[in-house]
Amino acid sequence: MDIYLGLGSNVGDRRTNLVRAIEALEQRGVRVARLSPVVESPALLPDGALANWSRPFLNLIAQCGTDHDPESLLRESKRIEAELGRGEADKWAPRPIDIDILLWGREQISSGRLKVPHHEIERRNFVLTPLIALNPSLTIPGLGAKTVLEWSLELQHHIPLWMGIFNLTPDSFSDGGELADWARIEMQVEQAVAAGAQIVDLGAESTRPGAEPLSADREWSRLAPVLEQLVDKYADQRLRPLISVDTYHADVARSALALGADMINDVSGLTSPEMIELAAASDADFVAMHSVTLPADPARTLPAGCDPCGTVERWLGERIYIWDRAGVDLNRVIFDPGIGFGKDPLQSLKLLRDAGRFRRSGLRCLVGHSRKSFMKNFAADDNLALDLATAGASMNLVAQGVDILRVHNAPLHAAAYIGWAHLKQFG
Ligand code: ADP
Ligand code: MG
Repeated sequence: MDIYLGLGSNVGDRRTNLVRAIEALEQRGVRVARLSPVVESPALLPDGALANWSRPFLNLIAQCGTDHDPESLLRESKRIEAELGRGEADKWAPRPIDIDILLWGREQISSGRLKVPHHEIERRNFVLTPLIALNPSLTIPGLGAKTVLEWSLELQHHIPLWMGIFNLTPDSFSDGGELADWARIEMQVEQAVAAGAQIVDLGAESTRPGAEPLSADREWSRLAPVLEQLVDKYADQRLRPLISVDTYHADVARSALALGADMINDVSGLTSPEMIELAAASDADFVAMHSVTLPADPARTLPAGCDPCGTVERWLGERIYIWDRAGVDLNRVIFDPGIGFGKDPLQSLKLLRDAGRFRRSGLRCLVGHSRKSFMKNFAADDNLALDLATAGASMNLVAQGVDILRVHNAPLHAAAYIGWAHLKQFG
């Protein structure tokens, strides 16, 4: 039976508090099967709250098993909260750790002290985003057939996950070799993860217009050393980023998963029979991106005058049918409308304006608009200007409920988002 525990911390070293709580739960007979990504959210506060109570939480969800009964797990959780320094202070005061029993299998419990499913989980974005990352089609006992992804469509504001882009470019190889490349990537990954990026996307082959396609062998020889070091780096850490590999070669994807990658980002849209077979046999997440040509060719776009959202949505509907028949778990597929891949600037803007609607398919949705060439029509052609234009668009995408944003500058985005979110909480 799956038990979902929600952990939150908004004072002290929040990541360490989360890890200590997880370890304490394990010492008390909780078996942690999976941990969700960590998301940051503003504290919920009553009127008149002290100024220093407005400190954002880091939240995560642990999917667990245990031999405890619900009451005894609640008792243990309260002991852990006390051990980690949660006093008897005001309910709204900052707390090093809060442990909530969100779900206990399909049970509904209502005793004096304990209510499961937890109060209002279907309305809390800091619960829904981590739950959706674990299992988007989960339903909440007592609340009908709506999935957690569907519940999140009703929120004013869904919390996104940030996927940082890390390119293993041939240049960095020619001038320094693999070691230099790893040092650069490691520093960038550390910065992005510390700032709140939940996913690290490693790519060895550029799919920009005019890029040279790489053979699977060459792609793998660039990727493997960095992927191996990245997996190693986080192997003994509880709160680690998800590692995604950007490839459309099924052989590379298979090797990457075997080496410890968590996710495959397939710009060819999960269309090759080998990739579909791999997805069906795996429990990793697969991003399926819509495109017209690979690499992108500015001369070949969707027909002028077509409705790009409708066109892409029809493609997705057909793909879902094929994936489902091939035995792919649709919970593990994430759809990407492919901004700039066979879309002219206006088509890209229309897709961005309505990107949230693709979630109605029941799949999570990822958008990769970062520094794309259509922005050069309205932003200067340098990384800072493009990152700021990207961030502005990102806040709009967050408001639409897009699950994952793939960006070059994750620290800038995490900072922009938390400012935006602090106003949005009153909405
Ligand atoms: P919250 O988590 O809502 O911010 P607290 O952690 O202070 O607030 O919890 C208040 C009380 O809620 C706890 O003392 C506990 O008895 C009760 N409670 C009821 N249902 C649950 C649940 N599912 N998980 C954890 N606590 C619960
Ligand atoms: Mg609590």
